[in-house]
Amino acid sequence: ASHHDDQIEDYLFKVVLIGDSAVGKSNLLSRYARNEFNNNSKATIGVEFQTQSMEIQGKEVKAQIWDTAGQERFRAVTSAYYRGAVGALIVYDITRRATFENVGRWLEELKVHSDSSVVVMLVGNKSDLAHIREVTVEEGTALAEQHNMSFIETSALESVNVINAFQTVLREIHKIVS
Ligand code: GDP
Ligand code: MG
Repeated sequence: ASHHDDQIEDYLFKVVLIGDSAVGKSNLLSRYARNEFNNNSKATIGVEFQTQSMEIQGKEVKAQIWDTAGQERFRAVTSAYYRGAVGALIVYDITRRATFENVGRWLEELKVHSDSSVVVMLVGNKSDLAHIREVTVEEGTALAEQHNMSFIETSALESVNVINAFQTVLREIHKIVS
């Protein structure tokens, strides 16, 4: 945190997006940062992170949100990706049970690479496809409770709960550091 004057304090929080390939991580970020959705996920490859600001209790909170460049497909997310992260969104696809079953692996990976105080939110994405869901809301809620995470279902496509998801994590981080 840096001081412009006596009243205003800015924060910069690094938040990482993790979870299996094709669960919608890149689209959650593009929806949040630019209000855009791309069916072709390659559009965001090469972008390391995007910055988005919000105000919390009169303070400007900047989130530097990191997205993978597809390396999660090869289980090759490096420690540099996690370094300095104070928040994480673990994303699964509610229509693909395997992506939910892998949440535990991502939690382990996060534990290995980051501080134990990291704020974690579980995100079940693609809620617009609820008619073909393979994971219930109750299962998501239970897993989140078990690991002390917040939980939310989102749709990057229909822009449901996306801002809510990111802002919840940022508020929780702010609560810890302020
Ligand atoms: P990533 O590999 O986790 O970054 O996932 P992407 O953001 O690249 O998305 C993978 C695929 O899922 C793309 O075809 C997206 O268009 C699609 N997708 C992402 N979010 C949603 C969503 O909320 N609803 C639906 N129906 N499709 C989505
Ligand atoms: Mg991606």
